[in-house]
Amino acid sequence: MVVDGNGWTPADLESVGSCPVCAGTARDRLYEGVADRLHPEHPGSWSAWRCTACATGYVDPRPTVETVGRLYKRYYTHEAGSGDDPGLPPGIRGRALAAELNGRFGYQIAGALPLGRLLASARPGGRGMASQHVRDLRAPAPGSRLLDVGCSNGWFLRRMRSLGWAVEGFEPDPVAASLAAGAGLDVVTEAADLDAMPDGRFDAITMCHVIEHAHNPVALLATCWRLLRPGGSLWVSTPNLDAAGARRYGNNWAPLDPPRHLVLFTPASLRRALSAAGFASVQRSPVTLQAGGWIHASSAALRDGMDEHAPPPLSGPDRTAARRADLAALFRASGAEEIALIATTGTLQGR
Ligand SMILES: [Zn+2]
Repeated sequence: MVVDGNGWTPADLESVGSCPVCAGTARDRLYEGVADRLHPEHPGSWSAWRCTACATGYVDPRPTVETVGRLYKRYYTHEAGSGDDPGLPPGIRGRALAAELNGRFGYQIAGALPLGRLLASARPGGRGMASQHVRDLRAPAPGSRLLDVGCSNGWFLRRMRSLGWAVEGFEPDPVAASLAAGAGLDVVTEAADLDAMPDGRFDAITMCHVIEHAHNPVALLATCWRLLRPGGSLWVSTPNLDAAGARRYGNNWAPLDPPRHLVLFTPASLRRALSAAGFASVQRSPVTLQAGGWIHASSAALRDGMDEHAPPPLSGPDRTAARRADLAALFRASGAEEIALIATTGTLQGR
């Protein structure tokens, strides 16, 4: 047992032994002896491996499904979400984004700036920002159902409810789930509740920075596949283990977040997981530029022994590296900090 902290006993942990995506057992060390930075009262140190066959990273040994909840006692999802509105930034930026969302995705958001699409898409990464805002979901036909898996306090569902979707959520964290329920959202909290839902119930499912928390990501994706109607779509985003920041900051790369992030993907390994779960086709969402945002700043703060949640602005070589990383991501999305994919079930399913 590698874990030596006094917050975890061997009974709290399970060994994994093989890749959660491809079941391969050949592996190299990804990191070793990294502490949980969010919960210093659980002073275990964690190790992760990288599958040599498909490049997926995974924590091993790791908390079990039963014990993992203690890692979420303090989490950013424990605050009330915003209101039932499209969630636009103030001023001209919001009006330009409205124009982009209306033009590209068919919404009818009021106040859109004439020719605002030029402004919204002219910003580097602007198309990716707009895609993220609605997770590439087109304006719904009446009655279209959306499930957000890992819906947190329901902020995204409230946004999409205001844009015409019939929304439901799944959130295992009880504090976050009760905040969502308090906003009048239908939220289930148990995996068994998802399993009990009928086949083909949803037109779309979204999963934003959730899959890396799953003990069995392929099984979760397969559940999504089953819950989607034929031709329905799954939007999934997660940190990219092949990102420039992962190379630059190593064990201090903030998205490693041990041991909450149990499985870390590359674009290719996430596609492999989606295919294994039954999805017929996979597209990439337009790239977002996040190196210059919180990811590199938090990683540099970790490296320098500072609070990663309140990092100082990037400076010097770190700032240059972040700018270079974002510029490179515009031309090579497989090196961006984040993976965002849109998978569809296909229309001919063996049901
Ligand atoms: Zn693998």
